[in-house]
Amino acid sequence: MPISSELLEILACPMCKGDVEYRSEETFLMCESCEIRYYAGKCQLEKCRRCGGELKQITGEVLLCRECGRWYPIIDDIPHMLPDELREDLC
Ligand SMILES: [Zn+2]
Ligand SMILES: [Zn+2]
Repeated sequence: MPISSELLEILACPMCKGDVEYRSEETFLMCESCEIRYYAGKCQLEKCRRCGGELKQITGEVLLCRECGRWYPIIDDIPHMLPDELREDLC
């Protein structure tokens, strides 16, 4: 289910406080063992950075910051908006 426009208006990038835009059908590379998702548009990876495991291509939702270009996955309808220092999925 797409996130509501009300929620989208409240959400802001945790790093620069910029507005985010929603995209529903983006390609992610997900590690099957640690379940980290890497955004294929930003990460050119062949193996999981944490465990070296195989990555599976999936389609998912993402929020993109209009200001700084950071990306935040939406997993099970929940936007995961963590600052850089708490993320393992950045490339
Ligand atoms: Zn992994
Ligand atoms: Zn930002």
